[in-house]
Amino acid sequence: MTVDAAEHGAGDLAGREPPTLDRTKLLAARYRAAEDRPYLASALYSLSVVPSALVPTMGVDRHWRCYVSPAFVAATPVPELAGVWIHEVSHLLRDHHGRADRLPAADQRDHARVNIAQDCEINDDLLADGLLLPAGRVEPGDFGLPVGLLFEGYLAGIPPQPRRVDCGSGAHGRAAPWELSGPDGAPSVTPVEAGALRRSTAEAIRSHARSRGNLPAGWKRWADQILEPVVDWRRVLAGAVREAVAWAGGAVDYTYRRPSRRTPALRGVVLPSLRRPLPRVAIVIDTSGSMGEDELAAALAEVTGVLREVGVRGERVSVLACDADVHVVSRVTSAEQVELGGGGGTDMRVGIAAALAQRDRPNVVIVLTDGYTPWPGETPSCRLIAALIGAGAPAPPDWVETVRLEEPS
Ligand SMILES: [Zn+2]
Repeated sequence: MTVDAAEHGAGDLAGREPPTLDRTKLLAARYRAAEDRPYLASALYSLSVVPSALVPTMGVDRHWRCYVSPAFVAATPVPELAGVWIHEVSHLLRDHHGRADRLPAADQRDHARVNIAQDCEINDDLLADGLLLPAGRVEPGDFGLPVGLLFEGYLAGIPPQPRRVDCGSGAHGRAAPWELSGPDGAPSVTPVEAGALRRSTAEAIRSHARSRGNLPAGWKRWADQILEPVVDWRRVLAGAVREAVAWAGGAVDYTYRRPSRRTPALRGVVLPSLRRPLPRVAIVIDTSGSMGEDELAAALAEVTGVLREVGVRGERVSVLACDADVHVVSRVTSAEQVELGGGGGTDMRVGIAAALAQRDRPNVVIVLTDGYTPWPGETPSCRLIAALIGAGAPAPPDWVETVRLEEPS
């Protein structure tokens, strides 16, 4: 929980002894939270308590341990403490640390902003639900942002943070100084158990919504997402392309180069350095069959977007349109130049062979197809990704890395 931490500090600056933890009060607050929001009870009772004078208020780690400042407990009334319990368990139920791990690297390092954005995602729902939280808590309105977004949506709107913000590694992912290292030292929850807890909590939320009806929209959306996850093909395709490019870039050996002039102590010594040349990528487009123009444009935009992001662009990317009937392969530079036909009889082997026959042989070939095509009989000497467009597209052989581009229904 993030509040203005100064008044809840450990208290030892004034030479006072830090107070011992009032467990009775802390656990009374958890009992109250579980009684008020019964669907969160099993998650709340899965948290183990670790007292710490270093934590400003309360925080959680990835192992479902809740670090608690005795001074904060002493200074905070039970109804607000109950709200903080729900705040902390929300970081873990919503898998904030797992989602933070998937942010772009620059955002991942900015723990304070990530934490603030996560607190915004939690607190608007808690306040709408009538829960009490200590003064100084963060809300989307503090930054002129609307309620109801996920933290990834808030992040861009959160300015750089001078204030001390730390709900622990269970939120933003980086271990805070007061955390126990690893899962030992206090009871912990494994990732598998955490997954089961999320599921059972989501089911409890559903049945609560059916029988009582009064549930904040944020929790209902969360439960729906847990029980019927929507797989975003853009994310899967982007991951496959990124991984293939990294693989192809790493497939080149150490090479000997002149050392940097910044290492004068090593003058005259030639050190091997890991050179990672950018790979070449060919995108082969199937122009036949049931692919829609919009689907094709979306898939092509996604692939070229990811390639640009990782620095593979210009001459390093070729786009080939594989004509169904005449098996003509032409080089194109944009989706608009691709003429989609209606005919069958596609043979993407022709397109793949043409891609590999280019003067600058690609390391990665990405095929955008409806799947109605024969495939090469064996692994070609490149990384091959098939992006299957259209519902019910037949699957390629197992050795072809496959991403299905289906919009969730
Ligand atoms: Zn928090």
